[in-house]
Amino acid sequence: MQSDIVIKENELIDPSIYPEEQRSLVEDFNARIRRLTGIITGIGKEYHTIWVINATTKKMYLYRTTGENTNRYAVELGFRFDNYDRFIEEYVDRCVVNSVESVQRDVKLDIVFSRIKNGDLFTLDYMRLADDGNMSYHQMAFALAGQPGETDNFILAFRDIDESIRKHISDKRYLREQLDIVETLSRDYYNIFKINPKTGDVVILKLDGYVTKGMEGAGEKKYSYDVLYKQYVKDRVYSEDQEWMYDAISLETINRKLSKNSEYVSSYRVTDNGEVHYYQFTYILINANIPGSDMLAGFKNVDDVVASAKERQNLEILASTDIMTGILNRGSGERRVIDAMANNKTGMLCILDVDKFKNINDEYGHSVGDKVLRGIADVLKLAFRDEDIIFRLGGDEYAAYIMNLGDKETGKAIMDRVFKAISEMEIPELGDKKVCVSAGAVFFKEGYKGSFEDYYKLADSGVYESKKVNGSALIFR
Ligand code: GH3
Ligand code: MG
Repeated sequence: MQSDIVIKENELIDPSIYPEEQRSLVEDFNARIRRLTGIITGIGKEYHTIWVINATTKKMYLYRTTGENTNRYAVELGFRFDNYDRFIEEYVDRCVVNSVESVQRDVKLDIVFSRIKNGDLFTLDYMRLADDGNMSYHQMAFALAGQPGETDNFILAFRDIDESIRKHISDKRYLREQLDIVETLSRDYYNIFKINPKTGDVVILKLDGYVTKGMEGAGEKKYSYDVLYKQYVKDRVYSEDQEWMYDAISLETINRKLSKNSEYVSSYRVTDNGEVHYYQFTYILINANIPGSDMLAGFKNVDDVVASAKERQNLEILASTDIMTGILNRGSGERRVIDAMANNKTGMLCILDVDKFKNINDEYGHSVGDKVLRGIADVLKLAFRDEDIIFRLGGDEYAAYIMNLGDKETGKAIMDRVFKAISEMEIPELGDKKVCVSAGAVFFKEGYKGSFEDYYKLADSGVYESKKVNGSALIFR
């Protein structure tokens, strides 16, 4: 019987090798094979496993297994049982995860045959447990392997429908993301371009801002990124930023930046009618999950942002600075010391108070007193490192928090240098008079408890003590 032959794709028999009287039989056989192949091809390449089954004998023949989606277990099962009823019951039992009972019912041979006998395709979607233990949606498709009423062979084909659903979803998400990005960018970017990172082709999506020579406006037209950006930098970018920009927005740099991050943003300056303005470019990968994904580039003016940032910075500096001396004021200085202590940054807190400062004011005038106060701030700035916190507590009082200083010997050596420098300040109005300060210090060591206030009081009591000593002195607490 023909159906006992394992049918392989394109396995046709050469009629010429048969005796004359048998050739029409062979041609008939070939025609049936062609039809079968046609149907199977019609079912499509997406079916990874295809069986041909004889409905009478229930024997199964593996027609095709392709790709990684083939369930090896299922194929082995088919070979082992060689019988549709036993195969399908076992398969549904082992591999189908959902609605097992109704699937069992639907795959019974008489049900299948009643659905396909008029030439219809019968499909059954189910969730499958794969060889690797993962679950995914699959489909069984049944179809007659010939003309209705003429054959008792039918086809059972399996395909992974998750894969096509996944692709569909990712296509949709891709489109949605692309739209979202353009919409978001559109709100404040004047010009938006889509760039193919490999070919360097540019399509203009929005052109409400500056028009680089040669551009025609949004549309399908493709431009060369290389030509456009060089023209733009040359015509538009502020001369001092040009060299940097030629490199910063070259396709090579952008590709490199976007291989590490999904977004590449930077600001630069442009010249417009002789005025300098701040601009910002943004390059975004449309779909970071797809290697070589197209990217979008947006350009916008950020003058306002830059101006307010500068203003904010100025205000911050102003708010934290002691106007007279230029060092930190009490509020900001204390905050920093409190932060340092909270972060377990050990150090020495030292308070200094000028000796008999009232006398200096009285004898030489207030402006000379001011000079002294500024001079001391300068000495302190020079004496300590950037990470140390130096501030004016007010009046003729200063404080310093010297990081990582934990021993009296070093503390004393440092403060002696400060005392010396203060006494050697160059203030001509003072003549021979030497300025002296009294200082108290306390160490903040790792694991120490207590608030800034406690340490301040301790150091201040050191100042009080040292006032009793003539000339600059330092008392540890
Ligand atoms: P002591 O040795 O006990 O510290 O005596 P002192 O005279 O230095 O007394 P005190 O530290 O209490 O005096 C601080 C003086 O500093 C009081 C105030 O008139 C003066 N002063 C405060 N702020 C300023 C300022 O900004 N400029 C000037 N020139 N003097 C100021
Ligand atoms: Mg004083």
